Amino acid sequence: MKETLSAGLQRLGLELSAPQIEQIAAFGEAVLEKNKVMNLTAITDPKQAAELHLLDSLTLLKVLPLAGKSLLDVGTGAGFPGVPLKLAEPSLRLTLLDSLQKRMRWLETEALPALGAEARFLSGRAEDFAREQRERFDVVSSRAVARLNLLCELCLPFVHRGGYFLAMKGVLAKEELHEAANAIRLLGGSYERSEEFEIGGAVHSVIVIHKTGKTPEQYPRSWARMKQKPL
Ligand code: SAM
Repeated sequence: MKETLSAGLQRLGLELSAPQIEQIAAFGEAVLEKNKVMNLTAITDPKQAAELHLLDSLTLLKVLPLAGKSLLDVGTGAGFPGVPLKLAEPSLRLTLLDSLQKRMRWLETEALPALGAEARFLSGRAEDFAREQRERFDVVSSRAVARLNLLCELCLPFVHRGGYFLAMKGVLAKEELHEAANAIRLLGGSYERSEEFEIGGAVHSVIVIHKTGKTPEQYPRSWARMKQKPL
């Protein structure tokens, strides 16, 4: 895993220290080990995990400077992209959010303590935290959680004005962006740019949305309402 990670970092033009690479690889290995007894990921091959989980997460370092920023990772699952980012940029003030309590408990009580990494943990649904944590974060990230039009309603309320929402997407990025244009505008966002990376032989996109206004109080709605009537 370490070799694949090192080679990929070089390809991306990202410089990390040897202990950081070791730590990030150790996290990848811990995910695969835990995956034997808890459903964390469909990927079981270490090389694939290094590319598709670790390197893919780290591409966000190429998109925005994250040093000293507060970052919320919505629907973090086994900790992607949030945990590799924290290990690569220790000054990041990381908050992980997921509705699956088992995964959150593993991250909070086992995985992060073993790495000596600190984070805050919000266990529950994003739409339920959006009132108490409203407009509190410099950056919100999310990968593989929902289509962009729905994801914007889950994520943009957490970003303060001037901050960014980074949506990690695959081949459907352009189509999802087109479909989400109205949601982005209504929720106080403004599409800035997309950055593409070749990861594991496929193109992965990071859609960068700048929070230029305020999210109106009525958002986010309930998940059922969002799905029934996307913005
Ligand atoms: N982001 C991780 C990754 O890319 O490997 C996990 C992706 S997994 C397919 C989706 C995760 O989003 C699950 O862990 C699920 O519990 C979480 N999730 C989905 N909807 C959510 C919501 N409304 N609020 C919080 N978590 C949510």
